[in-house]
Amino acid sequence: MNKPENSNADEYPTLTKVTDEIYQLKVRYPFGMYEMNSFLFKGDKGFTVVDTGSVSAESKSLWEQTLASGITVEKLVLSHAHPDHIGFASWFQEQHQVPVYISNLGYKEMQRKRSNPDRNWTRNLFLTHDGPELPEKMEDSEAAAFEFEPDGIFENQQQIRIGNDSYETIWTPGHSSDHFCFYSQNEQVMITGDHVLKGLAPIIAVWSEQDVNPIKENFASLERLKAYATKIALPGHGDLIYNMSDRIDEMISGHHYRLQQLVASVKNAEKTSWQVCQEIYGNLGPKQFFAPFLATITRFLYLESTGEVTSELINGKVFYRSNDISS
Ligand SMILES: [Zn+2]
Repeated sequence: MNKPENSNADEYPTLTKVTDEIYQLKVRYPFGMYEMNSFLFKGDKGFTVVDTGSVSAESKSLWEQTLASGITVEKLVLSHAHPDHIGFASWFQEQHQVPVYISNLGYKEMQRKRSNPDRNWTRNLFLTHDGPELPEKMEDSEAAAFEFEPDGIFENQQQIRIGNDSYETIWTPGHSSDHFCFYSQNEQVMITGDHVLKGLAPIIAVWSEQDVNPIKENFASLERLKAYATKIALPGHGDLIYNMSDRIDEMISGHHYRLQQLVASVKNAEKTSWQVCQEIYGNLGPKQFFAPFLATITRFLYLESTGEVTSELINGKVFYRSNDISS
C-alpha cells in the first residue's frame, strides 16, 4: 500500500518525516513566533536534535510525548542562543542526560545574557532615536533559557556529526552575531536556523552595543550560503525550502526594498528613525513597536555605512537625511 511521504503516524506520531533520516517536530508555544521547527536526525547512537523551541507547558508535553514514542536522543546541537532555539537545552541535559553542543560565540552570548545587560543600552538607543521609553524591566521568563553549561563547543568551519552524517559549521552572523548554519555535503542538506526562512523575514537588528552593522553582515552571510549546493534547507520557522538560492535572492531584494523605502522617506526632510518607523508601519501599540522600530534603526545604520544617508544629532536625537540630491 502506498503511503503519502509524511504519513508516519505508526512510527513517530509527533514527527513529520522529511527524508529517511530526517524528521521535523513543530514545537508550538503560546507566545512570540508561536512555533519553531526542531529537526531530528536518525543515527546509530540515537537522534541528534537541532534546536528545541521555547519552553511552555504545551511544548514540554510535546517533547515528552516525542521521547516517549521511542526516540532516544544522542545529542542536542544549537544554531544560536535565542530562547526559542535553546529553550529546552537544560531540560535535555538534566532530565535526559543529553549532551548539548553550541558554538563558542553562542556560549559567550549565553553567558553575557544571563545578567540581561542589554536592556539599558536598548532603552537609550530608543530614546536617542526619538522613540518611546521602554519599561526598565523585561520579563525574566526568558532568562532561564541561558542557564546551562554546554558539553561541547564548536567553531566556524568545523565538521560536526549530526545523526550519521558529517555537517560543516558555517558562521552566518546577521540575525544574531552567534548564528550558525550546518551543511551536509553528502546529503546536500542545509540547516538554516533563523538565517534563511521561507515566507517570512527574520528580524535583523542591533540587540546590544556589540552589534555594529548586522545588515551588512547578513548580506555577506546570505551570499556565503549560496555557494553550497543545497537540495533541502531546513529552517527554524515555517516551511522547508527546496530552492534555497532563489529564496536567498528574494530575501536580499526584500531587504533592499525596505532600505530604499527609508532612503525615499528622508529624501526631502530630516527625520528620526521613530518618525520614519511610524510612517512605514503606522501607529504601533506598546506591544508592537519594539521589533519594527529596532529594525528601522538598524536599517539607517546600514544606510549610513553605505553613504546613502547622513545623520545629525539635534538636541540629543539622531536625524537622518538622504544624500541623494537628484530631484
Ligand atoms: Zn533567532
